[in-house]
Amino acid sequence: MFEHDDFKVIDETKQGQPTLIAPLEGATKKLYLESYGCQMNFSDSEIVASILKDNGYSTTKVIQEADVIFVNTCAIRDNAEQRVRGRLKEYKAVKKQNPDLVVGVLGCMAERLKSKLLEEEKLVDLVVGPDAYRDLPSLLESVENGQKAVNVLLSKEETYADITPVRLGGNGITAFISIMRGCDNMCAFCVVPFTRGRERSRDPETIVKEATELFEQGYREVTLLGQNVDSYLYAGGGLKKEIMTEEEKKGAVNFAQLLEKVALVSPLLRVRFSTSHPKDMTDEVLHIMAKYDNICKYIHLPVQSGNSRMLERMNRGYSREWYQDRISAIRRIIPNCGISTDIIAGFCSETDEEHKDTLTLMEWVGYDFAYMFKYSERPKTLAERKFTDDVPEEVKSARLAEIVQLQQGLSFESNKKDVGKIFEVLVENTSKRSKDQLSGRTSQNKVVVFPKKEFKAGDYVLVKILDCTAATLLGEAINE
Ligand code: SAM
Ligand code: SF4
Repeated sequence: MFEHDDFKVIDETKQGQPTLIAPLEGATKKLYLESYGCQMNFSDSEIVASILKDNGYSTTKVIQEADVIFVNTCAIRDNAEQRVRGRLKEYKAVKKQNPDLVVGVLGCMAERLKSKLLEEEKLVDLVVGPDAYRDLPSLLESVENGQKAVNVLLSKEETYADITPVRLGGNGITAFISIMRGCDNMCAFCVVPFTRGRERSRDPETIVKEATELFEQGYREVTLLGQNVDSYLYAGGGLKKEIMTEEEKKGAVNFAQLLEKVALVSPLLRVRFSTSHPKDMTDEVLHIMAKYDNICKYIHLPVQSGNSRMLERMNRGYSREWYQDRISAIRRIIPNCGISTDIIAGFCSETDEEHKDTLTLMEWVGYDFAYMFKYSERPKTLAERKFTDDVPEEVKSARLAEIVQLQQGLSFESNKKDVGKIFEVLVENTSKRSKDQLSGRTSQNKVVVFPKKEFKAGDYVLVKILDCTAATLLGEAINE
């Protein structure tokens, strides 16, 4: 359950898994599509699948059957890239059997390395950045005509607002909706602004339409995705930093307003969002969350470090005290809110004392869950240019281990407090361990497993919690 120094940013079992589009009549070619990294990347793969489906492709889980292999990559930490390089080596054997096979690298690693990837990885035919997926059909044509193809242009406008994503490998109950792209924050450690470009928000009407269609298809939960959702601002399209005039700002839709619009689609549609940024999270958003029962009472609020000097070096735009004030606001306005975080161990020049500040802050908040990482220096970032990556590897590992151990205890404590309580659980699927058990989540995003009886995926079930582990609540339905 706990994330260490790699890229288990979402369900580890899904990392790299090939995904399927329903077979299309008349489809002539087969695509094998693998995705790595964050939810945003998985959401992008659904856009890629949609574009290729419209161009006569079906998908396969059998790599040997593929005409095209796409790997949608992550560049957030070095080991994320090494894992993809490992996969590319494995594709080589397949290409030997099928010399006409086209191999394409998409996403953040494609954007970071650009045409260098073609030189470094000889078997790659196609390199496409996150803003250029509409160009995939014509790039594939170029490759068929014997050329290598690259499009890594970042866009000021692109939000793929009009493309209906093909829902890949999901449970039919929960779906992601991308509400914005890029990031303007320039945290010192982070490669995202370089790989995903400047921040732009998607037309709220297209977001509400997508949520409505999902609800009509039987989905019961949407997660609104962005690198910094609190910064969402739609004033007719284009870059956020170009929304200048008072008039434009007055007429713009902010995140609290968007959240309310999506919540109003149906009281039976749960709404989640990720990721919130401590410097931008407003009380207005918290009040909207408190007002609507169907907005899940859960906030992922990455802290990165509990020490103010580190936070300043990281260019996060807040101090320990500011962060604590935001947590207090959550507790005051939404008393039953689940809170999780991201933490980086061993950022440049971090001392033992500063590391301890992270531990004390974790205890002060009492996080329900955390994603925890060792600092990994990334080319071009502010930290790479200005600071030295001087915390020895073994010290980083020891600090990470301490953080992970503390969080394990905090998660267990948090779960123990829920034993004896009753929660409304949205059932997502059958439990992985037993077909007689169902698995779903509480509003606070905790996983609950309970005996199936007559219930099925998509049902809201009242469950009394009888026991727990650090990762899961175990209960029994009390619905009639
Ligand atoms: N936009 C989100 C935010 O600001 O919190 C998260 C973006 S990133 C995809 C997810 C997490 O990866 C970050 O919160 C951070 O903890 C971690 N991360 C980013 N760059 C890193 C690096 N160079 N080394 C280690 N962890 C990193
Ligand atoms: Fe990276 Fe910071 Fe933007 Fe998050 S907010 S994507 S950590 S630059």
